[in-house]
Formats: sequence, structure tokens, C-alpha cells
Amino acid sequence: MAVLDFKEIPEAHVANGLQDTFELFAREFLEFMGFKIISTPDRGADGGVDLIVEEHRHGIGGVTIVRWLVSCKHKAHSGSSVTPTVEQNIRDRLDTHNCDSFMGFYSTIPSSGLTTNLDGFKTNNNIDYLIYDKELIEGKLLRSAEGLELARRFFPKSFKEWERESPKPAKIFDGDLSLKCHVCNSEFLENEKHGIIVFWEGIDKAYKSTDRIEYIKWVCKGRCDQVMKNKITMLNPNVIDRWEDIPDVVIPTKYIQWVMSILNQQNKGVVYSDEAFDNLKTFMIRVFPHVSRHLTSDEKERIKLLRMTESYLYF
Ligand SMILES: [Zn+2]
Repeated sequence: MAVLDFKEIPEAHVANGLQDTFELFAREFLEFMGFKIISTPDRGADGGVDLIVEEHRHGIGGVTIVRWLVSCKHKAHSGSSVTPTVEQNIRDRLDTHNCDSFMGFYSTIPSSGLTTNLDGFKTNNNIDYLIYDKELIEGKLLRSAEGLELARRFFPKSFKEWERESPKPAKIFDGDLSLKCHVCNSEFLENEKHGIIVFWEGIDKAYKSTDRIEYIKWVCKGRCDQVMKNKITMLNPNVIDRWEDIPDVVIPTKYIQWVMSILNQQNKGVVYSDEAFDNLKTFMIRVFPHVSRHLTSDEKERIKLLRMTESYLYF
């Protein structure tokens, strides 16, 4: 799904002083991509050229300079593709401006007719072309810190939305806190690796809870969970386990309800071994930077689902 809404950039023909924003964006984008800007946009008749940029190709035989004619077409507001009617006389324009290659910088996409024409020039006249369409531009921007900064400036609304949907840990503590599986040491707070936090509660001979949490561990689901289960039941057979998915616990709404349920239990007399209590505090601190943020859309749905199947406050 598209992240950046190119309609955030004002339409080119609207005379409100912002009509050149798309061309300015093109200029900054191409600089970011490593092109050297030779002529910059100015108002008035452009003679079929919006920008001229140079690409310095470093090869074995030295540096080859490719001179690109850039044509900017901002059609996001109408949503129409760029057709050969819009993009006329490409070869003449290249000759007039002494350019080797043609670049389309489009907020929509080229029509298939235009692509066919450009392919024809390439095969028959050895004229190279490159089209930066909306998807390619977005892909380049979202892949680096510098690109993200550009996206933040030209697409403030879409960028804000994207940031919310792609949460990064809040900068609360010095350095990134880590949460590693107690068995295999793999990291849970990166790359969405799925783990569980397991509470081991004491039971008496009649399998009744002793209201004492003996151990708290975080492990990968499956094999690591089983390894830990074997280890703990050898140490102390009088325990039972219950667990929560870590990706669920770091959903902000779920996190606070989970913390409340622990407080409620403590108020009712549940106690913790020193080790379990230390681990509980460690866990709460380490996941907190991942929790102090807005909900993503997926998490909103997940919360709805969890509410149907669980009652947090009586955990
Ligand atoms: Zn593991």
C-alpha cells in the first residue's frame, strides 16, 4: 500500500506561490540520489525541460558524464498517467538542451504508450531513459535516514501516519535496551521475533496455587519454552506456568492492563520470589520504550480481538 500521498504537494498550475513545489521536490530528490543539478527550475516557459542533471559514472576508463533532461509531471491530483501527448518531442528536447538521456519524474505513472515510445528510442536510437514514478520515489525515500527527512518535509501528513504505523522505540533511556531469550539468547525487541513471558506459580500437593510466583522467564515459543519448562520442573516440580505473547504485551493498551492485573494480584496477596520480582522489573523497563507510543491499526484490531477473549483486569 502506498505510504506517501503525492497530493500533499500542491498542483503545479495553481498560482498560489507553491506551484513549483513538485519541481523543487524533484531537485532535492535527485540531489539525494547523487545527481548533480545543472539547471534548476525557474518560473515561466520551460521549453520542455524542468531540470538538467548530470550523473557521474565511475568506470575502469575513468568518469563518464551522462547529461539527463528531467521532465517533471505532477498528476497526482487528477490521478492520470503521463501519456505521449503530455510528453511530446522527446528527441527534439534532448537535442535542444544537449542532453544524452531522458528522465521522467512523475507523481503518478507513465502510460504504457509512453513506455513503448521510450523503449523504442532506447532500441533504435540508443537513448537511455529512466522513470521515477510514485512507487520508485517512495521506495527510495523510505529506505534511508536522509530520504526519510526529505519525506518528512514534503509529505508531512503521510509521514506522520507512516511513523505511527511503523513504531520505533521511544528514546527514553541511553542506548537500546535488549530483551534476549533466556534459553537461546535471541533478541525479542528487534525484527518482530515472537517470544513469550512465562510466569511460574507455586502449587501445593492438591494443585492449589500457593499465591507465590517462583520464576519469570522470557523465551521463544516452542523449543526454548520446552527447554525452560524441563529445567524449571527439575529444579522445582511444584509449579505451573502461564504465559503471554510478548508482541501482545508491548501493545500500549495491553501493557497497561497487564501491569494493572499484576498490581491487582499483589494487592490480593500474591508474592514473588526475589528472582521473579527482579525479572519482572527488568522486563517492564526493557519493553517500555516499545510501549510508550500510539497504537498501530493492526494493534487496534488486535485489542478488539483480545477484549473478546480475555478479561485483563482479573488476569
Ligand atoms: Zn530462544
